[in-house]
Amino acid sequence: EQGVLLVTKEASESKKKIPPELPKNLPKECPSVIVDPETGVRYRRGRLLGKGGFARCYEVIQMDTKRAFAGKVVNKQRISKPNQRAKMQREIAVHCQLRHPNIVAFHKHFDDEENFYIILELCSQKSLAQILKLRRCFTEPEVRYFVLQIIDGLRYLHNSCVIHRDLKLGNMFLTENMEVKIGDFGLATKVEFEGDEKRTMCGTPNYIAPEVLDKVGHSFEADVWAIGCILYTMLVGRPPFETESLKETYTRIKRTSYSFPSHLSQAAKELITDILTSKPENRPSLDEIASHKFFTGGFVPDALSPSACHSTPEFGV
Ligand code: ADP
Repeated sequence: EQGVLLVTKEASESKKKIPPELPKNLPKECPSVIVDPETGVRYRRGRLLGKGGFARCYEVIQMDTKRAFAGKVVNKQRISKPNQRAKMQREIAVHCQLRHPNIVAFHKHFDDEENFYIILELCSQKSLAQILKLRRCFTEPEVRYFVLQIIDGLRYLHNSCVIHRDLKLGNMFLTENMEVKIGDFGLATKVEFEGDEKRTMCGTPNYIAPEVLDKVGHSFEADVWAIGCILYTMLVGRPPFETESLKETYTRIKRTSYSFPSHLSQAAKELITDILTSKPENRPSLDEIASHKFFTGGFVPDALSPSACHSTPEFGV
């Protein structure tokens, strides 16, 4: 700690962000070889893929099979509160039961003294949020390609009685060959019986639906709302209700107040308008969305080149 205090003004400015006080028990770095204590299976830790709220995600290689996975590592000290642990346990309980080509596959979970580990299917092209940032917006054929896969994954989730509750571009992961996988089940919940309306949620979804804001009870339709927001964001380059302040954004969501830029096609505008309607029961079903003329009336690529991560693809040239 003294070392920090003795840094000169110049040095501290050039280094920036030196904490005034170092934490007493710095969490240990994740080990370079991760061992599942139950099975003895070993994973070699590779490059850091990204950081989330509590997790660090690394590329890991299972040492006996040489298979590559994504290893989500959560330090136990960082989630010491009972509700934080409960949330992670729920995420694991929901995610580990799911198996579908458009859902990030859950491989294993275990823990040691320091950390919880979740071993997941590797999505090496990262998320649609990161790609959209580089691309600014996607072409309609790309949006059809991505969103039809998201709908397939979501249809499976809903048929499994799971509401995701935080569908957003940052939770849509892409594999090496550009298949879309829905991930991050941190806010997901299981519908236990018919008419089981959820009223509470710990955490704030990105594309929050009006009925979730109003706390009047929400269900699968909140995910459909998020699909509308995803469509808009992919085609326009920014979210439909984005403003400088969260309060203003919430007001706009409750009033369904948003507008379209002129370059959007009629079919895209119609579909988004159908989905972003304040009464959940008036929103289209996933099948109705997939059979809308936005999807059926235009070109849908069978596959997408990874070059689409940084530059606009040209179709049919
Ligand atoms: P948190 O639940 O703490 O927000 P995330 O699940 O969002 O953590 O993961 C954090 C980051 O790790 C993501 O933004 C992404 O960059 C990366 N990541 C997560 N899962 C995978 C995966 N299956 N494959 C590749 N990268 C991933």
